Amino acid sequence: MEYYDEVFLNNCIIAEGRRKRPRIDEKSLECPFCFPHEGVVILENKYPIANEWSNPYGQHDVVVDTPLHNELPKDFSLARWEEILFKIQKRWIELSKDEKIQFIQVFKNFGRCGGASISHSHWQILALAEVPEFVQYQYKHYNVKQDCYLCEIGKNASAYKILETEYFIVCSPKAPRFAYETLLIPRAHYQHYGELPEYILKEAALLLQKVIKAYDILEPHCDYNICMMGGALNQQLNYHFHIKIAMRLGNMAGFEVATGCFINMVSPMKATAEMKKLLKE
Ligand SMILES: [Zn+2]
Ligand SMILES: [Zn+2]
Repeated sequence: MEYYDEVFLNNCIIAEGRRKRPRIDEKSLECPFCFPHEGVVILENKYPIANEWSNPYGQHDVVVDTPLHNELPKDFSLARWEEILFKIQKRWIELSKDEKIQFIQVFKNFGRCGGASISHSHWQILALAEVPEFVQYQYKHYNVKQDCYLCEIGKNASAYKILETEYFIVCSPKAPRFAYETLLIPRAHYQHYGELPEYILKEAALLLQKVIKAYDILEPHCDYNICMMGGALNQQLNYHFHIKIAMRLGNMAGFEVATGCFINMVSPMKATAEMKKLLKE
């Protein structure tokens, strides 16, 4: 089960098997993702956070998005980004058919500060029989409001708006925890990844390609996370699907560990202005 401490507002999943997972940086014969394949391949995670015997029950996949150990996402073609998003959605839908699954988190950890233990580019899909407590809190907060907060951002001019496209608003959050944190918000209200139509995924692929290229110009070889925000299968927990991209210039330090308040070295005003310039090119 997910551990939740209502006094300290902490939550965690205990996954002791994860300690044994290998750390692979340089090209290594032991890299589990270096096997002959083309394009994007989805595998079972050998060191799962959750599986069919764990508590909570779950499934944990790895998505290897390149056959080449040293190919970087900043150099991926648009066709590759599209293939990634389409294949992950197909798997998302398969996993959602398991009646026990309540929540599916799709994320990419890139680089040590992004939390990646293997440098060969990949994503993870974690499907769980429980919705994490903090996520439930966020969903409830959305439901309290008459109007969806993210639908409103689409309608109103925001100081932190980076770009408007046919189907997306791209912006910095008001209180970004990470440098150049960027949100890709579909203008239309979809609850989760599984619902997104093909034209939305295609535009998301183009925007992800642009953001990751921009990150590399702003901070060459930087680490980052990409998170698909949504995921609860229960329609009672209403949410507006969006994608969060966060540059990781360092790890969580003592102040963050102590207070949950993050120190960010780039203001949202500066991030918005710089990203605006780079994304328009
Ligand atoms: Zn490899
Ligand atoms: Zn909405």
